[in-house]
Amino acid sequence: MTENTNVVVIGGGYAGVMAANRLTRRADVTVTLINPRPDFVHRVRLHQLVGGSDDAVVAYQDVLADGVRLMVDTVTRIDAAERSVTLAADGTLDYDYLIYAAGSGSAELSVPGAAEFAYPISTLEEAQRLRPVLDAAPATAPVTVVGAGPTGIETAAELAEAGRTVTLVCGGVLGPYLHARGRRSVAKRLAKLGVTVIDGSDAKVTAVARDAVRLAHGRELPSEVTVWTAGFGVPDLAARSGLSTDAVGRLLTDETLTSVDDERIVAAGDSAAPSNLPQRMSCQAAMPLGARAADTVLSRLAGEQPEPIHQSYWAQCISLGRRTGIFQAANRSDVAVWFHIDGGLGARAKEFVCNVIPKHLADEAHKPGSYSVHRMSGGVAKRRQLLRAKRAGAPAAADRAA
Ligand SMILES: Cc1cc2nc3c(=O)[nH]c(=O)nc-3n(C[C@H](O)[C@H](O)[C@H](O)COP(=O)(O)OP(=O)(O)OC[C@H]3O[C@@H](n4cnc5c(N)ncnc54)[C@H](O)[C@@H]3O)c2cc1C
Repeated sequence: MTENTNVVVIGGGYAGVMAANRLTRRADVTVTLINPRPDFVHRVRLHQLVGGSDDAVVAYQDVLADGVRLMVDTVTRIDAAERSVTLAADGTLDYDYLIYAAGSGSAELSVPGAAEFAYPISTLEEAQRLRPVLDAAPATAPVTVVGAGPTGIETAAELAEAGRTVTLVCGGVLGPYLHARGRRSVAKRLAKLGVTVIDGSDAKVTAVARDAVRLAHGRELPSEVTVWTAGFGVPDLAARSGLSTDAVGRLLTDETLTSVDDERIVAAGDSAAPSNLPQRMSCQAAMPLGARAADTVLSRLAGEQPEPIHQSYWAQCISLGRRTGIFQAANRSDVAVWFHIDGGLGARAKEFVCNVIPKHLADEAHKPGSYSVHRMSGGVAKRRQLLRAKRAGAPAAADRAA
């Protein structure tokens, strides 16, 4: 009789659910998923929760394999030596393998007044807190969205389409990821929706007050509701538990997603930093990384050498309200290219992606092992180049931007 293996997965987001489902391939593996909420948060729709067009929640029974035990709790510490995790509400839990998929949340709100007066929307609870604030504000109240990455752009468009008076303070360039052509298309749509876009090097918020934001050059804008979307941060659980992390707190791993400290710990999603060259924090990367993390554990159980990641990208999809969107095509190494689809077709492309995500998870729940995006070729050559440059001491980030 074969021995049973206990795998504990921390975090029931895109990466954690994908990994947990995939692990049910083996009948001799017991999978426990620990997550603080009883429902799956479809984070890519959180701006819609803010705008009132979706609740951004999916029942776990729709995306999680029957064989996975869901524990609604929070891990407060990982004890790698004892191979156990401490839970906030319910004692400790032992594991043979641990998958660290704790995801991300808002970046620390270090700008004066931001923690007190601005509303981040990176987690379900944050988005839910903002909703009634917007409902209570008069329709004409000035709303400022800080940060013009995809989350900021999507939120600004969503609120403007709902009739709000929105200013988007970019903190630099509008949509830094976008190709110049794609950026022009987004700027045009935002203008049509009535969003005032403030970009350029001075367009940084330096202070937030109850009813205004101050910009770098001293200009003050009235702002009855300030929405903060600038940057993601990660939970400090790995660092707090004495595990090696990158500078922001992502668990440091090798190319098989195995912790550099401990072969029994594997990471995936936004909270993983393979070779200290993390992937773009995105659902697009989280699901393949979740599948790869599960494959790493399954390979070890089978006595085989785990494969390295070969993450490839194809696009960034941004909704611009409910009727318009942009599918910004990218090369496999995640650099935006000239081609994009915008307008109504762009909105449909984005909606298709949002719908296909839970479907991928559900498919993996019903047929573990069927997901194969993480096995697609592409992106490998560039990553190898980055790894070589890193080993040789060259600045990887500069290389990446090239
Ligand atoms: C508004 C918005 C729109 C976005 N749109 C897109 C998009 O269009 N495309 C895209 O690719 N990406 C998008 N993203 C980014 C994407 O949502 C994240 O990159 C993705 O959620 C990362 O997946 P994950 O599984 O690593 O982490 P998460 O989805 O963050 O899941 C992590 C889970 O772990 C739980 N957890 C954390 N700490 C603990 C603990 N100590 N114990 C137990 N559980 C814990 C969390 O509560 C959470 O449920 C968007 C994000 C936001 C906020």
